[in-house]
Amino acid sequence: MPETRKYVDQWLRDAHAMEAQAETILEGQINRIRHYPALAARMKTHLEETTSQRERLEACMERRGTSTSGLKDASAKFTAMMQNLGGVFAGDEVVKGTLASYSFEAMEIASYRILAAAAEAEGDTQTAQLCNEICREEEAMADWLKEHMPNLTLAFFDRAKSDDTEAKR
Ligand code: MG
Ligand code: FE
Repeated sequence: MPETRKYVDQWLRDAHAMEAQAETILEGQINRIRHYPALAARMKTHLEETTSQRERLEACMERRGTSTSGLKDASAKFTAMMQNLGGVFAGDEVVKGTLASYSFEAMEIASYRILAAAAEAEGDTQTAQLCNEICREEEAMADWLKEHMPNLTLAFFDRAKSDDTEAKR
């Protein structure tokens, strides 16, 4: 199925660009967070996972014989979508950051579920397994954020009494 293979290759490239973007976003967020140590710690763990995800995708593409040159060339539409989403991360409030992070994880989960189904259809079980494995890491991150959202919101209200922007981060 050459058509299926073509899509899997393109979507792997998109996923790779997504993870590279995630690394940049997470690094930025970790550096901005001042008063939410549990959130910062969870993000550090996820940054390590994210780097490993990017590396696992590279190994996967190499095994498939997909060119890993020009990996930054994700499809233009996908890049535009991520840049739009990236804008939300520029906000320095922890609440907006959490909202944006959860949205990003949801996009990752969808990407890997789609990729896993596509790779399965192509008959590349190894790629399907990798995508399911990465998907579980994204789900765990999304679950953590979901679980901690109420407390982060309340903690933000405590800090929001201060006029100092730094205090809200
Ligand atoms: Mg990821
Ligand atoms: Fe993620």
